[in-house]
Amino acid sequence: MLGAVELGGTKCIAAVANSPDNILFKKEISTKGPKSTFSEIISFFDSYDIKKLGIGSFGPLVLDSRAKDFGCLVSESKEGWNGVNIVQNLSIICPNISIDTDVNAAALGEYMYGLNELCETLVYVTVGTGIGVGILQNGKPNVGNFHLEIGHMRIPPVDDFQGLCKIHGNCWEGLASGPSIESRWGSKATIIPISHEAWKVEAQLLAYGLVNIIANHSPDKIILGGGVMNQRHLFPMIRNNVAKLWNNYTTIDFSNLIIEPQLGNNSGIIGSLALTR
Ligand code: ADP
Ligand code: ZN
Repeated sequence: MLGAVELGGTKCIAAVANSPDNILFKKEISTKGPKSTFSEIISFFDSYDIKKLGIGSFGPLVLDSRAKDFGCLVSESKEGWNGVNIVQNLSIICPNISIDTDVNAAALGEYMYGLNELCETLVYVTVGTGIGVGILQNGKPNVGNFHLEIGHMRIPPVDDFQGLCKIHGNCWEGLASGPSIESRWGSKATIIPISHEAWKVEAQLLAYGLVNIIANHSPDKIILGGGVMNQRHLFPMIRNNVAKLWNNYTTIDFSNLIIEPQLGNNSGIIGSLALTR
């Protein structure tokens, strides 16, 4: 049996499956301190005989399996988690572990089980507790020397909101993550009405980042997932803004380029399971 854990800044998903596209049981666990979060995850797997475990985790994360600190979080991106070794902590479930960033895992899930066409350059963006981006080239993650940190790129500000990134303040994530929306407007993002200006601002901020990704990576698909993108009305607004910024420089069909996750909210967990292949 396969197991997988998707570790997010707000919530984790644990799942057991026969294969990535055949999940048997799944549980959502809210992300608290490492100790209690790991113990809840481990107890979910208690009664299963897991042969391989896939983990998609928030970062920044050491992914080089030859490194001494392989599997370690290396920044206080979530309070209390800096220096925590995710692989070591979860190896009690099963020692055969594959790990990647949450967004590389989600990108893989979409690549293998979501899109029904081959995709040379696939970009998966999550807009949730933070903003993360995973890029696959013919199914292989682009990790560079460490891994990509596109959520921390700089974009032009649209107002005087200072941004929430603990490291950079007003980077893309600092300006446009779910918690940033909530802090800027003083309301839970889930209850902000569709007609509220918040979504116009959000669609503009997301478009700035996306046009930079397009210029840098020339992707075939950009899949937008994460909690905030449950606000489906953002999609046409974002596409319009990106088209305006691109200004017909080259011909791009933005409806075909910027799309919803084909696996709904399951891209990350299906992709984490797919890491075990
Ligand atoms: P994680 O970052 O743990 O993977 P999510 O992607 O669900 O989890 O991100 C959580 C954030 O997304 C919350 O802080 C909230 O701001 C935002 N969010 C979650 N659901 C919605 C929704 N339906 N509409 C708008 N924002 C949402
Ligand atoms: Zn940042």
